[in-house]
Amino acid sequence: MNKTAICPGSFDPPTNGHLNIVNRALKIFDNVIVAVAVNMTKEPIFTPEERVQMLREIFKEQRNVEVDKFEGLLVDYANRRGVKTMVRGIRNMSDYEYEFQMALANKTLAPDLETVFMMTEGDYSHLSSSIIKEIITFGGEGKGMIHPIVEKKLKEKLRKKI
Ligand code: ADP
Repeated sequence: MNKTAICPGSFDPPTNGHLNIVNRALKIFDNVIVAVAVNMTKEPIFTPEERVQMLREIFKEQRNVEVDKFEGLLVDYANRRGVKTMVRGIRNMSDYEYEFQMALANKTLAPDLETVFMMTEGDYSHLSSSIIKEIITFGGEGKGMIHPIVEKKLKEKLRKKI
């Protein structure tokens, strides 16, 4: 049976921590749908289309990765796509608490949808979209933390604001 998982997130912007989770999910699942959340509580710096475009460019050689965006509840999106598993990354205790709550809420909404958690790998445990935005804004480099495509776009977007 062909197994597909959704890796949902804001990806504002995608970091190597996100890419690591997607690539490791591909060792377990045949296909991964990277699903970019359109509605976010925080004002995003990249539009959903820009985030989708960056991720498509990054995964363009990987035929088993699809990049899509979704609006509304993730459980509804998963249902529409006929997918029964999603993969989320965990970096620390605060991720754990948030993810625990989200997973239970999603279970209530969609009992058939399973959340699989993947522990981050050492190099990425400190890495978040917010940290990388700060680093690039104040003149730092993104090597080892973000894909060169993301670094170029972030510099264009953030440095012209200063
Ligand atoms: P959301 O707003 O839905 O939390 P994010 O883009 O912040 O979206 O994160 C998407 C997923 O990627 C989450 O499961 C998050 O825990 C995971 N993630 C983000 N950064 C890392 C990282 N450095 N290592 C492992 N997982 C990560």
